[in-house]
Amino acid sequence: MRPLLVLLTCTVLSAPAAWAETGTAEQVRYVMGTPATVTAWAPGQAEADGAVEAAYHVFSRVDSLMSTWRDDSVLSRLNAAGAGNWVTVGSEVCEVLLEAKAVAGASGGAFDPTVLPLVRLWGFRDGAVAVPDTASLTTVMESVGHRWLEVDLQGGRARLNRAGMAVDLGGIAKGYALDQAAAAMRKAGAEGGMLDLGGNLLAFGQGPAATAGIVDPEDPSLVVATVPLVDVSAATSGQYERFLTSEGRKYGHILDPRTGHPVPGDLSVTVLAAEALLADALATAGVVLGLEAGLALIEDIPGAEGVFAVPRPEGGYDLVATSGLALTETNR
Ligand code: AMP
Ligand code: MG
Repeated sequence: MRPLLVLLTCTVLSAPAAWAETGTAEQVRYVMGTPATVTAWAPGQAEADGAVEAAYHVFSRVDSLMSTWRDDSVLSRLNAAGAGNWVTVGSEVCEVLLEAKAVAGASGGAFDPTVLPLVRLWGFRDGAVAVPDTASLTTVMESVGHRWLEVDLQGGRARLNRAGMAVDLGGIAKGYALDQAAAAMRKAGAEGGMLDLGGNLLAFGQGPAATAGIVDPEDPSLVVATVPLVDVSAATSGQYERFLTSEGRKYGHILDPRTGHPVPGDLSVTVLAAEALLADALATAGVVLGLEAGLALIEDIPGAEGVFAVPRPEGGYDLVATSGLALTETNR
């Protein structure tokens, strides 16, 4: 396989600004399977500290609701309930399931929260990927489809209407967690905040100026482009983020629910949107759709912008952005 050409990640490049609050707090902790950095700026130190704690509280609540890596989460209960059985999941899970279904519809099923049976079949949950045989793939594909996921928001319940179905919110839950964490931080008295949950960024309110930097994987100290990060979220998806190797081939963790196979190639997609949930889901969808269809999808959504880093066959890569994005290219 061709070597990895570009790593598109968002790096916070804080620059000192003519701005100061008396309270600043920052913590790095491991949550939702990834390191998270939370910074809060507030009029006082106690509020800044409280805001950071509030963010981590949200992260662990979302994990206990939506993780599929633990059997005791609400989502794992839904997945274990069997076809056609309603499960009380609460309003938060219902809302995220509905948002996930909406992105699934808008992306023609490129993003699909019911992808978990495929994720399992390919071995991504066992840590050892293996190419499945055609018969197993055909069988499992029959239980993948967002239209069979039924959500009753008013009743706070959901059900899976097909045998073998299972939901994976791994492509959207971090974004949701960021939105909720920012709201909790404001409530706790923060006037500004910067959150980095495994490369999903969110900046809100007043604070030092920040930009999201797109870096070169061969030299991560080399920022090739930057975008301002002001009251916005930025999510990046790409197969290089997480992959397994089998018989010398690399298989990335993002699957194409339309084919049942891991998405090939090293396309990397960053999406900016006011809502972190939307940025997260669209970045994953962009990887599955590829440059042309992915760009069209993001262009169509008001308030969302995207940057695609497209590897060139001869080496290097092209950066292609949606029309409304102020991308500053550097070091190229
Ligand atoms: P992200 O890192 O946000 O791009 O999300 C990737 C994760 O979402 C994977 O590790 C899977 O858990 C899940 N996933 C994989 N393929 C898809 C897909 N086509 N649609 C929705 N979620 C997916
Ligand atoms: Mg995502």
